[in-house]
Amino acid sequence: MDYEIRDINLAPSGRQRIEWVRHNMPLLTGLKEKYGSLPEGEKPLAGVRISLSIHLEPKTAYLCETLAAAGAAMSVTGCNPLSTQDDTAAALAASGMRVYAVHGESEEDYFRHIEMALEHRPHIVIDDGGDLAACLHGKRADLACEVRGGGEETTTGIIRLKALAADGRLKYPVVAVNDARCKHLFDNRYGTGQSVWDSILRNTNLIIASKTVVVAGYGWCGRGIAMRASALGASVIVTEIDPVKAIEARMDGYQVMTMREAAPLGDIFVAATGCKDVITLEHMVLMKDRVILANAGHFNVEIDMAGLGERAERTYEARANITAYVMSGGKTVHVMAEGRLVNIAAADGHPAEIMDMSFAVQFMSALYIQQNYKSLPKDVIDVSAEIDTMIAEQKLAAWGVEIDRLTPAQQHYLSSWEL
Ligand code: NAD
Ligand code: SAH
Repeated sequence: MDYEIRDINLAPSGRQRIEWVRHNMPLLTGLKEKYGSLPEGEKPLAGVRISLSIHLEPKTAYLCETLAAAGAAMSVTGCNPLSTQDDTAAALAASGMRVYAVHGESEEDYFRHIEMALEHRPHIVIDDGGDLAACLHGKRADLACEVRGGGEETTTGIIRLKALAADGRLKYPVVAVNDARCKHLFDNRYGTGQSVWDSILRNTNLIIASKTVVVAGYGWCGRGIAMRASALGASVIVTEIDPVKAIEARMDGYQVMTMREAAPLGDIFVAATGCKDVITLEHMVLMKDRVILANAGHFNVEIDMAGLGERAERTYEARANITAYVMSGGKTVHVMAEGRLVNIAAADGHPAEIMDMSFAVQFMSALYIQQNYKSLPKDVIDVSAEIDTMIAEQKLAAWGVEIDRLTPAQQHYLSSWEL
């Protein structure tokens, strides 16, 4: 047994929760059954060591078990101290997997656990946000020599890895899982769209209808957050820096303005830009009393938490996961989950059906790396169209939905220049 977790006795509760998601993740279940039933020597990931750093909760645990069923030796850590669920970590450890993660651990322990997960000398690394990759390109560069390739789960991680590749320093090929159509179209848009509001609703227990919601960033996540806010009855204002996205938001029926203009109007603010300093003190002083600020972007830099901490005369816990900052003059600003990803740090993240698609892309990307690593460039590469299409077809099949197929005549029509 090799693990560093909160308490192995939590395993039964973790197992129960993994069972729940299993029934709602038909794509992973199909892959687990397909590859799990092969003789050991014929499993496509037999002998392959994988280190994985993704939010350590039941859906991720099920991905780990699916990879293990295909033959991989797994070493697992979280990608955010606040998203690790101790019972899930215990269930994986009890099944014999290497697991290093504790909910609420210090930053020092978090990075120590990233290193411990890499001590496994991985052939494949699966990252959410690029922390494994950063370690393999910095402090533990000695462990990078056997890495055949990696998969990256989120937008910001891909931005970081592309910067590394542009410097000519990326040491192994990375599949941009986030950029697959079966990932960002559903996970970033509908997953974030639902789970952000799940978190805000369960933590505030307030009505959204009648409120003004300000969404910063109208990318894949922002679109989902705005769409669901509107469906809950809010008036939505969007802030953007990209003129095309701003037009799109306007045409989708939202008001578009600067954050400075939106600041005095909003009741709830959600940032989803992947950028920093999106909601600053300059904006907060203009806001109404008792506004709620939440972040859905990757790092806790979208809301100026340091500035708010310095300016506040006192703070108190208004409810679980909501800190009240009382400013001079008596105005209060509420911040959810310390400005970290609200849907993950203060709720359960995206639903199982969404992570089923994202993690099917991760699984197929790991297989792709194992089968092709000798010919892949040390660059950020796209998920192949075949994998994307295959996953979409399986998702439709799981729903029992059939779609039309092109006839040969239609295929010819769509591929010829003559009418
Ligand atoms: P995206 O690139 O599709 O969208 C980001 C948008 O923000 C762009 O339209 C950009 O123009 C806009 N923007 C950038 N800086 C801005 C600023 N200062 N003010 C206003 N708008 C600004 O990216 P995405 O896929 O929507 O991801 C956004 C962030 O959310 C990333 O950090 C990503 O890693 C993270 N993410 C979070 C979750 C989650 O579960 N919370 C899920 C997926 C992605
Ligand atoms: N490392 C970052 C995480 C970025 S979170 C951090 O510091 O917290 C964004 C990613 O989380 C998304 O791309 C999404 O695929 C993933 N995610 C969302 N809900 C999840 C869940 N329930 N389980 C596992 N991953 C999830």
